[in-house]
Amino acid sequence: MIHFNVPPFIPTAFEYMKDAVDSHKICGDGKYTKLCNEWIENNLSVHKALLTTSGSTALDMAALLCNVKAGDEVILPSFTFSSTANAFALRGAKLVFVDVRPDTMNIDETKIEEAITEKTKVIVPVHYAGVACEMDTIMELAERYNLFVVEDAAQAITSTYKGRYCGTIGDFGCYSFHETKNLSMGEGGAILINNDRFDYLAEIYREKGTNRTAFFRGQVAKYNWVEYGDSYLQSDLNAAYLWAQLEEIEKIQQDRMKTWNLYWNEFLPFAEKWNIELPTIPNGCEHNAHMFYIKCNSLEQRTRFIKYMKDNDVLCVFHYVPLHSAPAGLKYGRFAGEDKYTTNDSDRLVRLPLYYNMDPKDVDIIIKKVKEFFSGEETRR
Ligand SMILES: *Cc1c(COP(=O)(O)O)cnc(C)c1O
Repeated sequence: MIHFNVPPFIPTAFEYMKDAVDSHKICGDGKYTKLCNEWIENNLSVHKALLTTSGSTALDMAALLCNVKAGDEVILPSFTFSSTANAFALRGAKLVFVDVRPDTMNIDETKIEEAITEKTKVIVPVHYAGVACEMDTIMELAERYNLFVVEDAAQAITSTYKGRYCGTIGDFGCYSFHETKNLSMGEGGAILINNDRFDYLAEIYREKGTNRTAFFRGQVAKYNWVEYGDSYLQSDLNAAYLWAQLEEIEKIQQDRMKTWNLYWNEFLPFAEKWNIELPTIPNGCEHNAHMFYIKCNSLEQRTRFIKYMKDNDVLCVFHYVPLHSAPAGLKYGRFAGEDKYTTNDSDRLVRLPLYYNMDPKDVDIIIKKVKEFFSGEETRR
């Protein structure tokens, strides 16, 4: 069976995890947490990065820092993971879903302005498949209407938009290091903060509402409960596992890119003939080979494709059920404008296996089976 995903592992991780254990410091903000935070700040050029327990809790922290309150409105795509919406629904916000562009499956930046009302507080672009949203337009709107921008960059570490790293452009950026992402620590994430005016509150919200971080720095004589907060600190054991990957990040990303390009080069010449769509990488965007997907010509064809691949021992998956049509989406949100692509295109999208260190023989098998399936479709028509 060819797996859909195998989490990345770099062998030095065990050495680093042992080092953390031997140092008797495995809770948050230890040596490896600091190495990871500083790596992100220095290599991706952002004011502050803090590891969190997940991409979801990074988004939760961002929603807290934006001071989202009951009745505020938040603009986001409906074609995304539930976590994008949860962070804001938890604060009592109303979710306003906007359609996606069919070429990237990212929020359609030309449809955002008509969704803005007096209650709008935040825009949440999701860099789907590690391909950047049209950030110039989004940042310009945010400035004009005085809105926060929280980038859901869960899938987009090292991806760039006009030379700037995804997650470092808005007020806040959120990465995920879940086992399905390019870099992983099992469960984990990071919040990126662009402006030092949020440093104080960020430190407090993540430390159970206390000023313990300032206490450790010797800035206060004792620490106190000063605000509400939660526990967003990642364990240093997990950070040690991640650190091994940050040291090898180029190797990991290049390896994924090799597989992505193989798929692309093998299928692109047939896309028109097979009547399928492949991902588009807009000018000015460099992606991180997070995902390779195909859009079949119908839901019915996608169902048969997934079954065909499974019968041939290749696991392919689809996502997402659009949030606006899901039970919680109906409760907490509304769709602004026309759903031209969200439902139709999500029904047709299927992802191929893509992970670090794939066996080239497996990649060959996948390519062969995809070609077999769609060639068979031609004779079916
Ligand atoms: C993975 C993902 C998340 C959530 O990350 P977790 O680390 O699993 O909590 C949020 N948004 C998007 C777009 C994701 O792909």
